[in-house]
Amino acid sequence: MNDTTDVSLHVGLWKGIAGTVSPGSNSNFVEAVLFLLSVSTDILCDTDQESSYPTLKSYLMEHITLPLRSGRFIDVDVMKKWRQDLNEISTGQLLPVSSGREMQKFLTLLLQHICNLHPLHEFNNLKADYTMTLFAHKDARVGFPTVQKLLEKTCIQEKVKFNKVPDNLILILPRWSLGEEKIFPNLHIDLTDVLEYAKRVCHMCGDQAVFECPECYEQEHTDLSSAAFCQPCSQTIHKHSKRLKHMPVELKMVTQLGDEESSILILKGILCVQGSNYTTLSQPPRTSRNSLHNSTLPNWLSFNPRAATNDFTGTESVSHIPEVMLVESVPNWLSMDAYDCMAKDINTIPDNIRQLLHSCCMCVYSKS
Ligand SMILES: [Zn+2]
Ligand SMILES: [Zn+2]
Repeated sequence: MNDTTDVSLHVGLWKGIAGTVSPGSNSNFVEAVLFLLSVSTDILCDTDQESSYPTLKSYLMEHITLPLRSGRFIDVDVMKKWRQDLNEISTGQLLPVSSGREMQKFLTLLLQHICNLHPLHEFNNLKADYTMTLFAHKDARVGFPTVQKLLEKTCIQEKVKFNKVPDNLILILPRWSLGEEKIFPNLHIDLTDVLEYAKRVCHMCGDQAVFECPECYEQEHTDLSSAAFCQPCSQTIHKHSKRLKHMPVELKMVTQLGDEESSILILKGILCVQGSNYTTLSQPPRTSRNSLHNSTLPNWLSFNPRAATNDFTGTESVSHIPEVMLVESVPNWLSMDAYDCMAKDINTIPDNIRQLLHSCCMCVYSKS
């Protein structure tokens, strides 16, 4: 048995979760996000934590998350019941989801109140959260921003660093403020330059960096790693008349043992939106077999809760037939080599990948 055989259990029409359209819920954000988190991450599987809403949590685990992980179909009645219970505790305020703020509210309800999880990440200003919203990159020189760049930019603008490398990181992309722009979801993001304590390298000479200069970063508009300097290089570079007013910030030094921990996070899945229809592209579930491979699997799952309409449903609500399709070679399309080609000519890539770049609104990254 190989990966493809494992993955084939998840693929086909009537796979995933059926999207619904009923009064008060015209978005299938909830179905798409539950599919992504259940199938591609372990975030919802932390069963040790007691929940403020134990019935909702156990229903989610038994009737949605675990069946999805084994490739089963979740019918419209299962979701209808869970949505009704969810609406009761959220007093109907959460649905439909149609903005980054509402996505954030739903994910906080799900992860904090239903799953009772600790915040997924914490910053050095002690602010901890379940999602991180990235800012739009207004600079025209960066016409095709990557998630890595948006993350660095947001940390610099907010003057925050991560306290440690999070196990999971949910990033809400600036889709709504960017309009038709495209964003490149990096296959891997490196948190080294946005960590409070990290061993960083001087951009000029390769020695250990002791300063970061936010003004150099803004001025040069390259990666944040190019704004890290050792003391002599920082002195030299800031003698230039263009940089005299810069205020390099001293970096916190790594003192504790175990500082060799990887600061790379792996892309687990992407949420996309077109109108009120949310779809996902995500890695298949880990199995004892495929987890022996490297961290990124070649064939990913594309999930559409509303692939077709079920004509046999009554008039009270319309149900949709969901579909999960296999998308091959995703890591190739999301590599930096592919990014360089796309930045030159976007027409060189397949339609489904181009669509993804124009519609991605959330990325989920994990350590493994
Ligand atoms: Zn140096
Ligand atoms: Zn500078």
